[in-house]
Amino acid sequence: MKLQAMAVGLLVSGLVLVACGRETSPGAGNTTVTAPNVAHNVTVVGSPTFARMTQRGTVIIGVKNDQPGLGYLNPRTNKYEGFDIEMARLIAAKLGFDPNTKIQYQAIPSAAREQSIINGQIDYYVGTYTINDARKKLIAFAGPYFIAGQSLLVKADDQSITGPETLKGKRVCSATGSTPIRRVREQNLTDKIVEFQNYSQCVDQLLAGQVDAVTTDDAILKGYAAQDPQHLKVVGKPFSQEPYGVGLPHGDDALRAKMNDILDAAAQDGTWQTIYHATLGVSGSDATPPAVDRY
Ligand code: GLU
Repeated sequence: MKLQAMAVGLLVSGLVLVACGRETSPGAGNTTVTAPNVAHNVTVVGSPTFARMTQRGTVIIGVKNDQPGLGYLNPRTNKYEGFDIEMARLIAAKLGFDPNTKIQYQAIPSAAREQSIINGQIDYYVGTYTINDARKKLIAFAGPYFIAGQSLLVKADDQSITGPETLKGKRVCSATGSTPIRRVREQNLTDKIVEFQNYSQCVDQLLAGQVDAVTTDDAILKGYAAQDPQHLKVVGKPFSQEPYGVGLPHGDDALRAKMNDILDAAAQDGTWQTIYHATLGVSGSDATPPAVDRY
């Protein structure tokens, strides 16, 4: 456990957090679509993370900043927006922290997530974070609050790539430390793998003709395609299940249970649907919330 944590630490030391200046389009989602009621007199007995947040008076949340529709720092408004951001805000509000004044966001790439939770740099992480057993050894997950699936983004005029079995010999880009890049390696889909810290860097490479495809979750890729439908398209059927969880410190069972209660309530009372339709589902698609897994 300690060695694993150290290995992750070594892997991510020297990472650069890249703020992305990508232009946004009207379909990319609105800024802060919900104003969740802030809960009062909240207690989470036995949670060291909640105690730390309460003492500090603010919540530090790890997020993505370059994934339109999910976790996106809109360069026009200089505000974070998207489905993951709304989930992060809802959780903060239900823990008693005003999401408009008491949240500090930190943009953290996929490869640095576990370590940022382990070393206490953030209180929790909401950003297309797949729940899996390897990660559960290092951190804990509340949720899932959404199920995505791995897919492919290509140039709009590409006819040669239609699914994972057509990637042989193609240059495929994904993010370091992600489940999709691991799947490309494990399933030997191509031997030309290009990796970056952030998916937006892969999209830039695709537009520049330096790679042939970007692979990650369909929810992420659809956001990029929606920003530039003239040049980009998502192809094929999703070929994995990526259940998104909220990452929090390992062993903080009290906070995990509290967050699962919050996500459960949002699924029951319609809050989840409201958030979905204002962000990921803004172009009319439908979805239902998954049941939380209280492992
Ligand atoms: N959901 C996948 C993962 O957690 C891919 C997206 C991401 O890298 O955030 O690795």
